[in-house]
Amino acid sequence: MIRIAIQAKGRLNEESIELLAEAGISVDESKRKLLARSGDFPIEVLYLRDDDIPQAVAMGVADIGIVGLNEVEEKQFPVEVIHKLGFGKCRISLAVPKAVEYTSPQWFDGKRVATSYPRILAKYFEENSIRAEIHEIAGSVEIAPSVGMADAIFDIVSSGGTLVTNGLKEVEKVFFSEAVLIATPGMPAEKQQVIDQLLFRFEAVERSRGMKYVLMNLPREVLDEAVKILPGMKSPTILPLAQEGWCSLHVVINENELWHKIERLKAIGAEDILVLSLEKMIL
Ligand code: ATP
Ligand code: MG
Repeated sequence: MIRIAIQAKGRLNEESIELLAEAGISVDESKRKLLARSGDFPIEVLYLRDDDIPQAVAMGVADIGIVGLNEVEEKQFPVEVIHKLGFGKCRISLAVPKAVEYTSPQWFDGKRVATSYPRILAKYFEENSIRAEIHEIAGSVEIAPSVGMADAIFDIVSSGGTLVTNGLKEVEKVFFSEAVLIATPGMPAEKQQVIDQLLFRFEAVERSRGMKYVLMNLPREVLDEAVKILPGMKSPTILPLAQEGWCSLHVVINENELWHKIERLKAIGAEDILVLSLEKMIL
């Protein structure tokens, strides 16, 4: 049995639960208790505040956890980052009031900066030989300059909308974060085996993200041309149709090149094109 810590509520909660569900591990939301759908997955879910996840994993209260890399970096507990999960992307940036004429990080010399990430900020200032005052505050960091608590802030940014509403502008992007899977260092072999199994499932789910399964009918004589339009595919599946001179082509295509490729395939005579979503890709 392994135990995984995930965020109880907040920005990472939903996608963490979804990832587990896609890996065949469903969580009973009403009871907040785990039910392994496949019956063969020995895992228990522990719901925590994201701030507490690195420590819980470092102490072995949970064997693994899903948390933002920003929290891992800030808390400095001894945990291993074993996998990047590709969601919860954001950055931690320095922002100053809009009116400031900002030219370089040296502007921060002698300034007061409000943040919930003092360690990450201190490291950045040290690396850039900046002597600034760091004011740690737990929340509502973005209002600190307007109420006179600070000259600037160091805070999480995703779209930048919150900064603009508070009369601030982003001037230095310091730390890039996404959700990661962390583990207690030095896991016993039998737990490691379960974790490897879980990672295998996560990878199958991730691989299928953004991929589509496409089927189409094609006149046989344009088959070579069609295969050229779809490079990167090891070898598309080709099936004969009952109708003489026609075949059916099946390929997996990345979503962002889907329309472009379909238009070209249509132009050379592809018909009856079906696009299906993919759930998992196991190589
Ligand atoms: P908790 O109650 O668990 O302490 P929280 O309020 O500290 O939650 P959330 O706002 O739910 O945290 O954010 C959790 C994580 O989501 C962040 O640590 C960060 O890794 C990630 N994240 C992604 N985009 C954003 C964003 N725009 N603002 C804040 N966090 C973001
Ligand atoms: Mg938190």
